[in-house]
Amino acid sequence: MSKSEECHCWQADMQNDEERLTFEKWQAIIDNDQSYNGQFFYAVKTTGIFCKPSCKSRVPKKEHVLIFSTARKALEANFRQCKRCNPMEEKLPDIEWAERIIHYLHQHFSEKITLDTLAEETMGSPYHLQRTFKRIIGTTPAEYLQNVRINRAKEYLCYGTKTISEIALSVGMSNTSYFITLFKKRTGNTPVEYRKLHQKEE
Ligand SMILES: [Zn+2]
Repeated sequence: MSKSEECHCWQADMQNDEERLTFEKWQAIIDNDQSYNGQFFYAVKTTGIFCKPSCKSRVPKKEHVLIFSTARKALEANFRQCKRCNPMEEKLPDIEWAERIIHYLHQHFSEKITLDTLAEETMGSPYHLQRTFKRIIGTTPAEYLQNVRINRAKEYLCYGTKTISEIALSVGMSNTSYFITLFKKRTGNTPVEYRKLHQKEE
């Protein structure tokens, strides 16, 4: 499978409606499933309180439950933090995780990176990686990685004499035509045009 195809798969996962009470989320609430912590928060309309999925408080009636993708949104909607489960406390580990992911992407952008390797290398679960990263950084890891790659490609185009396909390979994109398409989409120029406009004299 080419890198470009992988990137699309990653993004497809983001299409879910984050604030819908799905069967999966409801099940996580009923089971106090802590592996969902940080992914969503649930508020209970009748009590005005919001919790993380693992909270051991009594299971609310389903029709009273509202789902929020972030604790901040629940606060903005006038819900108070549950004293029992402290839904805001989980922020720091997620931020540190996102930082590890960013560090890894900068170190290894020239290699093949899948969601699974990224999760493994940064000691997190592949299932949560995408959503946690997006919540904290604002883009998916795949989008972030593309930016790193495009920026490095720009440097190669400005300085040096690598061919376009060599540059594509150096930034971890073995599919040159996909590289050219992506580069044009991001910068407005093909790599060749970009080089003509920006190449620095040695
Ligand atoms: Zn709670």
